[in-house]
Amino acid sequence: MTCPICGGAGFLRRDVPIDHPDFGRAIPCECKRLEMIPSLMEWSGLGHSNQDWTLDRFPGDPEALAVAREALAARRGLWVFWSSAFGTGKTGILVAIVRACWDQQVPALYQSVPAMLDRLRAAYQRGDYQQLMDELRQVQVLALDEFHRWHDKSSRWENNASHGDLRDGSPSWAAEKIFQIIEDRYVHWDQRMTLVATNRNPDRGDNDPIASRFSDTVRSRIVPVHGGDLRPSARMFEGMASTTKEKAA
Ligand SMILES: [Zn+2]
Repeated sequence: MTCPICGGAGFLRRDVPIDHPDFGRAIPCECKRLEMIPSLMEWSGLGHSNQDWTLDRFPGDPEALAVAREALAARRGLWVFWSSAFGTGKTGILVAIVRACWDQQVPALYQSVPAMLDRLRAAYQRGDYQQLMDELRQVQVLALDEFHRWHDKSSRWENNASHGDLRDGSPSWAAEKIFQIIEDRYVHWDQRMTLVATNRNPDRGDNDPIASRFSDTVRSRIVPVHGGDLRPSARMFEGMASTTKEKAA
């Protein structure tokens, strides 16, 4: 059956003034969005993840959890979950929101930033770079995990700088790609949601253009994630689950 909304074209153009950022822009139709979800799930690569916390069953910081629920309800804006400590459940929050979006038929994509940069670099060589960038900019919900990793002085992005080719993975290249994605999603903050998990204090701005987008309190919210390392408690959860099963049996 031909889609009654777009007539089978798969996209729509919004009726907006010529100076609007969406003027002339193709917006995926609802029918296309539903088609997108299986490929976004595959692309997110969470299938084999042992990270199965949901927003109803999350052992970490209750305040951060409350904000995660707000984000899911709002489904727009930038939400930066941060703690300098490892294992506080930032990844778990992102994964739980993304999975909840899929349950609600909302197109959502989870990406670890280093893996995303690898993918973009490979796309240069394959020639589908622009398509990939468009998807990252326009997908309704984008969750970027390990966001601090492209700042890491010890990362291989830094090591690659000696090659002198800015298109091939130097920090400047990575910073430019990340900025293009964040900037576009920041401009369209009222139609898209961007989730970020980072170990780097997002307030530590000092002329960082991304930090200045994050600190815009209208479009963005910085959410400190408190608490200790949840990784032992993840194991405990598994233990509790099997104990319960044993008791039931
Ligand atoms: Zn349609």
